[in-house]
Amino acid sequence: MAKKSFFKLFAKNLKKSLGPGQYRANGINVSCVHCKHDWFEEGHAQLNTSLATFFNLDFANPTATILTCRQCGYVHWFYKKVNRID
Ligand SMILES: [Zn+2]
Repeated sequence: MAKKSFFKLFAKNLKKSLGPGQYRANGINVSCVHCKHDWFEEGHAQLNTSLATFFNLDFANPTATILTCRQCGYVHWFYKKVNRID
């Protein structure tokens, strides 16, 4: 039951932006951990207090960057700034 409400919350906080692109995080080009593809859809999730607690991140206003693989759909979560390359 807790899992269900988590995903509901997740969907609500997920925002769409831009089209697919290539990204770099911490100076390294991002490639899919599953299929090695390098094109991603970018999204952002504002982690509210309950979500922040869920992830054990108890500090102010956390925002995660989400890169979803265009090929296999694997979802990569980044808790740091991710730069778009193109
Ligand atoms: Zn992939």
